[in-house]
Amino acid sequence: MRIIESSASEPLFAANTSQNIQLKTVADFRVRPQVALAAGRGSSGPAGNQAVEPRDELFLSSVNSVRDDMAKALPSWVQPFLTWLTAKPVTGEAAKQTSAVYHVSTATLATVAGVALSVAAVLAGGFWLALLPVGWILTASGMGKLQAVVYHHCSHDTVFKNRHLHGYVGDLLSGLLLLKHFPTYRREHLRHHNARHQFSQDDEFQQFIERTARLVPGADRAALRRRVLYSLISPRFHFRFLKGRLESCFPEDVPQRNTVVLLSWTAVIVGMAAAGAMIPFILAWVVPVTVLLNVGTALRIFVEHRIPDQLNLRRRDRWFVTEATAGVFCGCPVPAPAQRSMATWSAWWAEMLTLHLLTRVFVLVGDAPAHDYHHRFPASAGWANHIHERQRDVANGCPSYPQNYIEHWGLLSAIDDLVTGLSKIGHEEPVVTVESKAA
Ligand SMILES: [Zn+2]
Ligand SMILES: [Zn+2]
Repeated sequence: MRIIESSASEPLFAANTSQNIQLKTVADFRVRPQVALAAGRGSSGPAGNQAVEPRDELFLSSVNSVRDDMAKALPSWVQPFLTWLTAKPVTGEAAKQTSAVYHVSTATLATVAGVALSVAAVLAGGFWLALLPVGWILTASGMGKLQAVVYHHCSHDTVFKNRHLHGYVGDLLSGLLLLKHFPTYRREHLRHHNARHQFSQDDEFQQFIERTARLVPGADRAALRRRVLYSLISPRFHFRFLKGRLESCFPEDVPQRNTVVLLSWTAVIVGMAAAGAMIPFILAWVVPVTVLLNVGTALRIFVEHRIPDQLNLRRRDRWFVTEATAGVFCGCPVPAPAQRSMATWSAWWAEMLTLHLLTRVFVLVGDAPAHDYHHRFPASAGWANHIHERQRDVANGCPSYPQNYIEHWGLLSAIDDLVTGLSKIGHEEPVVTVESKAA
């Protein structure tokens, strides 16, 4: 038996240092999680690894109790809506096919409809201005989906049958929504999918967390929570985020492309000014593409990844992939049978139709609730049907990975998990792994 120890003072977000970690086989790893599944709770450690503490209580998706309880307690006609809202089907629910074309179409339509509604509200004025926030949400939902779904999956070449379209559409969306120059995004995003680079200093998630949102690893939870809130409302955060978006949208090495994008924007702005439509233009397009897209993107990035424990941060293997993301579902458990009353059901529906509905249309758009499925199968076109594809893999026992999926219910739970993971960095006990076979 050999004991290998690594120091907690090493940079925890450094790239792979797994060479000094002794691993057992994947087959061994599968034992303990299966027990955890039966108990309804997850555990992050490989079987037999005596030094790995069980992670804070985590739900694993193979225990579908939250969504199944909704199905038991509520009528069948409301279930399709709940499957869409939560992004989680009932166990055994017949799979409904959704195509990439559906996602591209709904993203575009929501953006166009939102802008039209906002313009109409501004032009009508008075009482009709009350419709402006509805227009904003619709526009921000469409823009968020164009960014997080279409632009993102274009980088994986998994949206269109004609592969050449991915570059064109990615470029178009980069200029339209002021996103990172697409070829650069594609290169950096594919590196983000490499477990050895994830959470390293040049990883897109890590850069956002530390440089843009300025969440300091190792800070206490209260300070980190304040930072998250600050990043939603602070003008300095929005200025910093927007400045970064513009700098990455217009890199110096593509002057011709930059000229085309800048001339297009200039033509639109001059045209709007000439038509006396600057105020509708600012309210219907500029506000959503800057402030609202910043907020939706920030909240989504906060919950796309979770911080694995020290061992997994060093190991960078398939266990790491299962620990570095989680499904985030838009909903909360139905009231317990003994507590069901008009008041508790009203409170439950109120939460579902405000916080969780807003999360689904504004933050966790498209397949964003299943970012864990995407990291397990980044080249799969199954993202378009993520609700059922993820659940199918869950039900099959996720044969490609040593641990089933982790899940959060509600955006706030997922943010809290990130905050907790960040706060632990630098404060853990040294990692000690024990190899069971004599070395
Ligand atoms: Zn990711
Ligand atoms: Zn991706």
